[in-house]
Amino acid sequence: MPVWDDLVGQERVQAQLAAAARDADALVTAVEAGEEPPAASKMTHAWLFTGPPGSGRATAARAFAAALQCTSPDRALGGEPGCGFCDGCHTTMVGTHADVEVVRTDLLSIGVKETRDLVRRAQLSPAVGRWQVIVLEDSDRLTEGAANVLLKAVEEPAPRTVWLLCAPSLEDVLPTIRSRCRHLTLRTPPVAAVADVLVRRDGIPPDMAAFAARATQGHLDRARRLAQDESARARRASVLKLPLRVADVGGCLKAAQELVDAAAEDAKQLAEEVDAKETEELKAALGAGAGTSGRLPRGTAGVMKELEDRQKRRRTRTQRDSLDLALTDLTGFYRDVLALQLGSALAIANEDLRPDLERIARAGGPERTLRRIEAISACREALDRNVAPLLAVEAMTMALRAG
Ligand SMILES: [Zn+2]
Repeated sequence: MPVWDDLVGQERVQAQLAAAARDADALVTAVEAGEEPPAASKMTHAWLFTGPPGSGRATAARAFAAALQCTSPDRALGGEPGCGFCDGCHTTMVGTHADVEVVRTDLLSIGVKETRDLVRRAQLSPAVGRWQVIVLEDSDRLTEGAANVLLKAVEEPAPRTVWLLCAPSLEDVLPTIRSRCRHLTLRTPPVAAVADVLVRRDGIPPDMAAFAARATQGHLDRARRLAQDESARARRASVLKLPLRVADVGGCLKAAQELVDAAAEDAKQLAEEVDAKETEELKAALGAGAGTSGRLPRGTAGVMKELEDRQKRRRTRTQRDSLDLALTDLTGFYRDVLALQLGSALAIANEDLRPDLERIARAGGPERTLRRIEAISACREALDRNVAPLLAVEAMTMALRAG
């Protein structure tokens, strides 16, 4: 089924969603014909997709949304909804379907006001499609207040509304909300399946595809980026030099500073690309024309301040995401070291760095490696608690030190 094509290695989830889409289709068809809807149905109004980063939570939700909106005439002949070609499927996949709202945020949290708007929208009947679908890609970022607003909507959904919530794990969603959702767990796709998609769909040469899939351990988006973007490969290479550089205190502090600086640079680059344009657009909307002195009308300072705050929060999140990526790569490095030390048959993720891995593996025992992996987790937790990045990363590099 073409709408499911972007899902990699999720056969079980795909089968469940396809069955639900089939029942959802039968339900709408019956209701529109004025008939009794079928008694037993695999369809429900609220779904929760969980799975590790890169497993394709949002991809699964979008594919399901498309299948729900499928209007292919083949359905009447026993074909499954989700053809990928009809107007319903196509507009959902490209993000222009009038009855599919996809919410993703580049901020650290989703607030009450935004959620209220969504809940209001969820009360509407579909305008052109078969269902009103709302995809909340970052449900783990709802503030507690926002989650409570959402709860009411999930408890008493409009008859043709479907909520598709995505989060890394069940623990990231309030128990009251998750208990009202049907839960689907996505797995990290097998490395070979990711490599295969990169070759088939993105035209990446097999060697590069295999390298990228292995180095990112089955994270499809990251693998694609690594395969296609030279600067992403350079960044990975420089992060993975870190274990060789933390021999003394000076080296630890320097490595920490560089890691934090690189993340800040990412945030700055994104800000330069997006912030100035956003600010100009808002100024124009507020009536500070290019021909005038550029001064803003009275009473608009608050709106400008709001945008500045939003941009600042976005920079914080970009910096944190960038650091998180580096920590993921480092964890993978030491996991490889551990595999070598234990003589495990596990495939090495960073095969291209085998001499470095072997050098570190020979210099210590598995207990030391485990403590280092713990130090990286501790750094991640500290960043989650808003500890200043440099402090958290310095504590980590010091703990990674040899000896
Ligand atoms: Zn279709």
